[in-house]
Amino acid sequence: MQLYTVHVKGRQWLTDRIFEIRFDRPSGFDFRPGQKIAFVFEQNSRDYTLLGPAHGPELSICVRHVAGGHFSPRLAAAAPGDVFQVTAPSGFFTFKPSPRPAVFVATGTGVAPFVAFERAGVRDFHLLHGVRTAENLIYGPELAAAARAYVPCLSQPVAAGGSTVHFTGRVDAWLATRLPSGGYDFYLCGNGDMIRDVMRLIDERFHSSHVFTETFF
Ligand SMILES: Cc1cc2nc3c(=O)[nH]c(=O)nc-3n(C[C@H](O)[C@H](O)[C@H](O)COP(=O)(O)OP(=O)(O)OC[C@H]3O[C@@H](n4cnc5c(N)ncnc54)[C@H](O)[C@@H]3O)c2cc1C
Repeated sequence: MQLYTVHVKGRQWLTDRIFEIRFDRPSGFDFRPGQKIAFVFEQNSRDYTLLGPAHGPELSICVRHVAGGHFSPRLAAAAPGDVFQVTAPSGFFTFKPSPRPAVFVATGTGVAPFVAFERAGVRDFHLLHGVRTAENLIYGPELAAAARAYVPCLSQPVAAGGSTVHFTGRVDAWLATRLPSGGYDFYLCGNGDMIRDVMRLIDERFHSSHVFTETFF
């Protein structure tokens, strides 16, 4: 397996737990939006989806700092110039144009491939982003500007006076009650429990649809 050495260029915290980290881009390092790279460390590896744009001098990913995790804390603590080993981009969770409407469904940092799609020019999609609280709606304005419908789904109720432009509940509850029945191209990314629950719903209500999935954990 060919490994590439990348150097940290900078890091920006998007919330108190989620950050975007940028690396220099090795020459010839081309990827298709939605693909991921693996960071290799001590006989282990962890995958992260490249945000895009697909061309340019830098690579960037967004990462949740998992407290007590083996690898994400290393990225959270990395400083400019620090060195990591990564694999070439791989994976098949890429956008496939079709006559059916596209419905992107993410939880947490599972929104990353949809940011990559949007930065590659994909438009006219529905995007549901399931998070606990509004501050976790990373890339919200950018995605809302490109989407036909951008639906933040907050699992925790918002205090009086807080944002009203959201759905209170999980992404599957929105799909079950708000999406007209029919055939769609569903792209599901993030938590495996969400993917299982939405797959069940698709079988019940949207069975002429096509489904693509990427499970983060
Ligand atoms: C194809 C693919 C793409 C991925 N892309 C991303 C990405 O773009 N950004 C990203 O943050 N992670 C992504 N992940 C998850 C990532 O590979 C790691 O699993 C994660 O960073 C935790 O690694 P760790 O070594 O710190 O934790 P570990 O020591 O491996 O601990 C694992 C625990 O962390 C929790 N966990 C793992 N990932 C997450 C997460 N994203 N959010 C909340 N809890 C989590 C789970 O409960 C799991 O039990 C991706 C995974 C896959 C398979």
